[in-house]
Amino acid sequence: MLLERIKAIVGPSGWTSDPVELESHLTEWRGVYRGKTPMMVSPQSTAELAEVVRACAAAGTAVVPQGGNTGLCGGAIPDDSGSQILLSLARLNRIRAIEPDDFSMVVEAGCVLADVQREARSASRLYPLSLAAEGSCQIGGNLSTNAGGTNVLKYGTARDQVLGLEVVLADGTVWNGLRSLRKDTAGYDLKQLFIGAEGTLGIITAASLRLYPLPPNLYTAIVAIPSPGDAVSLLATLRTELADQVYAFELISERALGFVLRHIPGTRAPLDQNYPWYVLVECAAPQGVDALHGLLMSSIELGYAHDAVISGSDREAAEFWRLRHSISEAQKFEGASLKHDVSVPVGRIGDFVEAAEAAVRAVDPEVRVVAFGHVGDGNVHFNISQATGASTLQFEAGRERLSEVVYAVTRSFAGSISAEHGIGQAKRDMLRDFRSATELALMRAVKRALDPNNIMNPGKVL
Ligand SMILES: Cc1cc2nc3c(=O)[nH]c(=O)nc-3n(C[C@H](O)[C@H](O)[C@H](O)COP(=O)(O)OP(=O)(O)OC[C@H]3O[C@@H](n4cnc5c(N)ncnc54)[C@H](O)[C@@H]3O)c2cc1C
Repeated sequence: MLLERIKAIVGPSGWTSDPVELESHLTEWRGVYRGKTPMMVSPQSTAELAEVVRACAAAGTAVVPQGGNTGLCGGAIPDDSGSQILLSLARLNRIRAIEPDDFSMVVEAGCVLADVQREARSASRLYPLSLAAEGSCQIGGNLSTNAGGTNVLKYGTARDQVLGLEVVLADGTVWNGLRSLRKDTAGYDLKQLFIGAEGTLGIITAASLRLYPLPPNLYTAIVAIPSPGDAVSLLATLRTELADQVYAFELISERALGFVLRHIPGTRAPLDQNYPWYVLVECAAPQGVDALHGLLMSSIELGYAHDAVISGSDREAAEFWRLRHSISEAQKFEGASLKHDVSVPVGRIGDFVEAAEAAVRAVDPEVRVVAFGHVGDGNVHFNISQATGASTLQFEAGRERLSEVVYAVTRSFAGSISAEHGIGQAKRDMLRDFRSATELALMRAVKRALDPNNIMNPGKVL
């Protein structure tokens, strides 16, 4: 009955239950989570989507929104009951307006991030959110996970880029909050509730986004450093000396770079020699490239750095970025892995990496730590790959204990178990241990108020 109703709402091209078509939508990027659904529905307009949600609400059937399905916590995958409707945003992908003088644009939730960046650029504006999955992740997914990426240091997270939202609520009501105001203190800032909610409070259908002027000419450098602690000192020096014109500052371990060079065709080592750690720096050089060169040289003299290379062309800069953006992909070739997307206070990154490595080694000296991340945000992807040639089953059996020790160290540094990937189903049970009873009670109260029948992506986050 419900399925027939949905088919009538969206028409023949708006739904599928073909197992072949559904396959890639029912498995998460890493293959860790699999789900079932009677149907994937792809509405073409907010009105259609609202009608689908109204039908689901009337039937008491759960809805799981899915964007580009690049999330890493299983948030966009339905459970295995086979009853939850998968709601794809892919066809809700129009750029509704772009206002260069207002430095804003309105886009639908299913727009792919790279398309939004391109559209902004064609109007001589910058949409700054940038991450390795930008060719397939969608704005709705970015906002629902409050994505971070490589430019948070300069521009903030996805949350900071939002001026207004359009949301379909759990009963099918459309809330049009697509304002583009910079200042608005009229009551609670409701849009912030839906950002980072991972589809558990409502479905984002469109967003009014903040744009920026295009940045000045940027330089991209790879700097070899002795340790992650030195990365923090180097970043502080560069921010101070370059009038805070550092746009990205990405930590890469020797092992992470090694995986990329081994598995990603067309990549090459940036320096003549191997070093234990590197940072990829993207910055402006207000005093010119010679001054930047001088700064890096003095960092070498002061012992924060071993060696450095500044890209000589856009092509070389793109090659450096490819090294950074290919780490997750390359890690897949090295067998089973564990991801820990944690954050700690920026100044404590060095001590954190050291302590977490020691804790992991005490559990299993053979597994391989693959650490990288966004130093300026205190965000380390403290990933672990199975030992070379080891049994995957054995690694899987020890996975819980390894994560336990990483999160215990994170806690001891007053850190977060989710810096930018969200909670989804992967970390739902852990949230209980990392948020106070008061915070959890407030979260549950918000969930009950907005989704009293628990049909919005149930089983995720809370
Ligand atoms: C190679 C790689 C690199 C990555 N790098 C980064 C990184 O640097 N920084 C970072 O933050 N993340 C990163 N990610 C994770 C991922 O790309 C982000 O979480 C992204 O924001 C997810 O967008 P998506 O469209 O794929 O969302 P999905 O995976 O489809 O969904 C994510 C969550 O949002 C919900 N959702 C999706 N669309 C909507 C909507 N319109 N309304 C309500 N809820 C919705 C889903 O139900 C789910 O809970 C990376 C992933 C990969 C594979």
